[in-house]
Amino acid sequence: MPADSAHIIHNNGIIGTHDPSLQRHIMFSVNLKTELTLFCSAWVLALVVGLIIGWPACTLLLFVTGYVLWQLYRMERVVSWLRSGGKAARAPHSLGLTDEIVQLVHREKKYSRKQKNRFRRSSSQFKSLAGSLPDAIIVLDNDFEIRWSNAAALLLLNIHSERDNGQRIDNLIRTPEFSEFLEEDTENAEVEIQRPTTADRILTVRKVPNVNRMTVLIAADITQRVRVREMRKAFVGNVSHELRTPLTVIRGYLEMLQEQDNLDTAVKDALREVSSQSDRMRDIVEELLELSKLEANPLGSNEGESVHMAAMIRTMVAPLEKAAPTHRFELELDDSLAILGSERELYSACNNLLVNAVRYTDAGTTIKVRWQSTADGMASYSVEDDGPGIELRHLPRLSERFYRVDTGRSREQGGTGLGLAIVKHAVQRHGGSLEIQSTPGSGSQFTALFPINRIVPALKKAANQ
Ligand code: ADP
Repeated sequence: MPADSAHIIHNNGIIGTHDPSLQRHIMFSVNLKTELTLFCSAWVLALVVGLIIGWPACTLLLFVTGYVLWQLYRMERVVSWLRSGGKAARAPHSLGLTDEIVQLVHREKKYSRKQKNRFRRSSSQFKSLAGSLPDAIIVLDNDFEIRWSNAAALLLLNIHSERDNGQRIDNLIRTPEFSEFLEEDTENAEVEIQRPTTADRILTVRKVPNVNRMTVLIAADITQRVRVREMRKAFVGNVSHELRTPLTVIRGYLEMLQEQDNLDTAVKDALREVSSQSDRMRDIVEELLELSKLEANPLGSNEGESVHMAAMIRTMVAPLEKAAPTHRFELELDDSLAILGSERELYSACNNLLVNAVRYTDAGTTIKVRWQSTADGMASYSVEDDGPGIELRHLPRLSERFYRVDTGRSREQGGTGLGLAIVKHAVQRHGGSLEIQSTPGSGSQFTALFPINRIVPALKKAANQ
């Protein structure tokens, strides 16, 4: 016999084994054996008595009727014991199969009691753990009604675990950005809001959707992080602003000096170099200032003017076609598609992508410029080239300030390293996003996607058709 199927004798007399299939079979046969032994002995006794008194058939009939009634009585006792709660102390004394039923009920009850205790223990462990977390955790059902919240939720969002249970969360946090974020269907969406009780703290709220048809919100206090971010922005903006005036003065004097006739060649060369470097500094300062402006609050949903993108793109491409006759431009522009926004910012974003497509590709490159609506009703501006492409490892960092793939080539071509950062922020200010795809050796595609609510009303219809 294998070690894992060794027999065990329980104190109730039932023979068990570790092998479940064997266990069932052996327990069944032992109980049945007891029942059969009892029945046969009584049957023989009834027959003997019947033969003695001369009525064997009647005695046997009487015995079988009695036996059936006795079985029914035993069953009834088990059933009424179960009905009254099946407590161990009140278990009916029985034997054979009914005893086995009683034992099985005992075992199941013991097991479920253990399970309940284990569940209670882990639930209270979870509650005390979640209660001690510094971040607020709120569990919402499908209708965004609060089902559970921890202690930090009271501190950060003024949501009380008992008082506010069953309330819709957007009735308690009443800001349009929060309501919009709640309805958003993207994974791990995030929103920054002010603390409802005191506006001096900034919170970030993250959403973990569809955990067993529940939504979990996690809110954290990021006031310190936001302050550092604001300080950095203000510092860069102020420094750029402060540099602007002295630079203008320097460039003015340089121009004056360059206009002098009696300069020898070495001085002229030096002045030309200083002048070109000061132009670079001016470009960087101007672009940093532009970025500071773009980093301000996003445009309101109704803010801006209707921008005819197709016409604007044509005015950008025309001078580039002249300046770079070695490149071929192919345009696919939807004239019926306009968006609501800042023309200056959109111009800057679109033009940066076009200039890059010329700047970082070689002669003979084809540049495809598209302005069209996407299958899901968004508006998309894309610039695709069949140039050298960019290695995958650079793509996530490409729109960071001053990040360049080839610093030498960028500087040589007059790049500041800020172009794509400006594009990203300009697009984000319009509620959109910048996507970059590239395959080394095959080319790159930069796509700015604008949300459906930016497409002006008359054209929304066209997008839905
Ligand atoms: P820069 O001012 O240097 O052009 P950008 O932020 O516009 O800075 O671009 C960042 C880097 O991305 C560039 O230095 C360049 O190496 C790379 N890049 C941008 N566009 C393309 C493109 N179409 N093809 C290949 N590389 C590109």
